Amino acid sequence: MGFKAGLGYDAHTLDAGAALVLGGVRVPYARGLVGHSDADVLTHATIDSLLGAAGLGDIGRRFPDTDESYRGISSLILLKKTAALIRRAGYRIGNIDAVIIAERPKLAPFIPEMEANVAKALKIKKRRVNVKATTEEGLGFTGDGSGMSAKAVCVIKKA
Ligand SMILES: [Zn+2]
Repeated sequence: MGFKAGLGYDAHTLDAGAALVLGGVRVPYARGLVGHSDADVLTHATIDSLLGAAGLGDIGRRFPDTDESYRGISSLILLKKTAALIRRAGYRIGNIDAVIIAERPKLAPFIPEMEANVAKALKIKKRRVNVKATTEEGLGFTGDGSGMSAKAVCVIKKA
């Protein structure tokens, strides 16, 4: 044993005038995600999965949006800090599997770069990070284009 699994979920509103950043990749699109940081749903879900697996709380507790130093920050920096917390707690990161839920735009061309960014921030091999994208076939807030969400699971192992 010594393995622990974690689950993360995040959602943000889409708005004109904001940049769309997913897994640290600036995706060209007419609208982007709105939030205190860069509102990178994929990275936020990944952070929460890791914190959850290690029993270290959640992103809101670790990186509160009341902290001005996190305004507009690249979420990859928060992911790097999270990886350091996980290692300090005595764990190694096994793998990440994540899904982005978005009606538009087509994300497939950007996924390899997202996986590379996440792997680099976590200092793990790229093959240990898997990112998928799906739509919800017009249903709900992702379907009508008012927002995007992401889910992530991870496995960590006591070092
Ligand atoms: Zn978020």
